[in-house]
Amino acid sequence: MFPLTEENKHVAQLLLSTGTCPRCIFRFCGVDFHAPYKLPYKELLNELQKFLETENEEFILDIPNPPPKKIRLQELEDGIDGIDNLSQNGEGRVSVMEDGSIASKNSNLNVCNVCLGILQEFCEKEFIKKVCQKVEASGFEFTNLVFSVSFPPQLSVREHAAWLLVKQEMGKQNLSLGRNDIVQLKEAYKWITHPLFSEELGVPIDGKTCDMPRLLQASQKQTGRYNKYSRNLPQTPWIIDGERKLESSVEELISDHLLAVFKAESFNFSSSGREDVDVRTLGNGRPFAIELVNPHRVHFTSQEIKELQQKINNSSNKIQVRDLQLVTREAIGRMKEGEEEKTKSYSALIWTNKAIQKKDIEFLNDIKDLKIDQKTPLRVLHRRPLAVRTRIIHSMETRYVDEHHFHLYLKTQAGTYIKEFVHGDFGRTKPNIGSLMNMTADILELDVESVDVDWPPALDD
Ligand SMILES: [Zn+2]
Repeated sequence: MFPLTEENKHVAQLLLSTGTCPRCIFRFCGVDFHAPYKLPYKELLNELQKFLETENEEFILDIPNPPPKKIRLQELEDGIDGIDNLSQNGEGRVSVMEDGSIASKNSNLNVCNVCLGILQEFCEKEFIKKVCQKVEASGFEFTNLVFSVSFPPQLSVREHAAWLLVKQEMGKQNLSLGRNDIVQLKEAYKWITHPLFSEELGVPIDGKTCDMPRLLQASQKQTGRYNKYSRNLPQTPWIIDGERKLESSVEELISDHLLAVFKAESFNFSSSGREDVDVRTLGNGRPFAIELVNPHRVHFTSQEIKELQQKINNSSNKIQVRDLQLVTREAIGRMKEGEEEKTKSYSALIWTNKAIQKKDIEFLNDIKDLKIDQKTPLRVLHRRPLAVRTRIIHSMETRYVDEHHFHLYLKTQAGTYIKEFVHGDFGRTKPNIGSLMNMTADILELDVESVDVDWPPALDD
């Protein structure tokens, strides 16, 4: 059924005569159901002309300025990313015949003076097909997509001008027209194009009009735990004054493989805490997550992920990865959750300046939940604000080595500076192993034995 009524006739007549397309006429007449917009353009135009021809009263063209003769589509092309040769300069002319009936000179080429063709050829199947070809040529794997469109700013000027004109005309008929009574251009565009996109691409489509037309790719998250077996490997690239200090890093050894397999553009690495370049991470390893940005491949079987993990592990003896898996963004929050409250276990090799006997270190085993105050260590003061933090050493266990060495196993609150707890950092950490033993102590080696975060879930092998 044709959606316009007698009441709309005057406005429809006026708009058509100035070169407005049928779909924009529907919009300004407040047609807010989808079906009429989806009819083929030619059919719409014919229907509209037929509807208006039944007009008996003489139509008087009451517009102060002549309609635009030519509308260039270049602006529109500029606004549409990567779509070439889809439009041509068209004669946007509508003429009023001597007998009062309205006909356009060449109805296929008339470009609407309000939408500039958005609701004409830019929502036709041909155009949608070309967009879909671009999408498919990009090589992305996807199960749904967000289609967002930006319109040239001058369209809102045209929209406003048309609204003012229609409002004025309707005022003459004692009818009112609010800004919200008309259907937004982007709404109508969505109604028409979304089913076409879905059909063409075979996936559901989520509309987000306003931005540039582009595929908004959800990023892909990977997580696992890593072990670091090298005392000469930073967690992230170590660059000082633009100069690279060490040739590799934990994040690169892992992410290089992921980038290649997922065909992703870039990545963001995050982890539950971090270790110093000379500290190893043993035991169950440290939880980490890698966000892959704009991956082209997203579908993987658990077997493929297992193989990917194996590939990472075979490529280096400096690190190993376990429990590698795909996770959601929300799950990553769990890694960071309550980080401060977690406990961490370390083992350290301690040197003392004075000769020691086994009995000299045994008292350390009896100390439980020792509160220590740590001023920001000198070695990190360049990147952290000066503060005093209280941390808890939950327990310690010693193993005597010789007169100047012993092993110290510690369970501490996360965020404790272990090296400083041993040597005291010039009195900035109090108490410390040196002050407790009443001698000078230093730390020769440090390993992280476990990071007690219950995430990610362990996988069966
Ligand atoms: Zn239009």
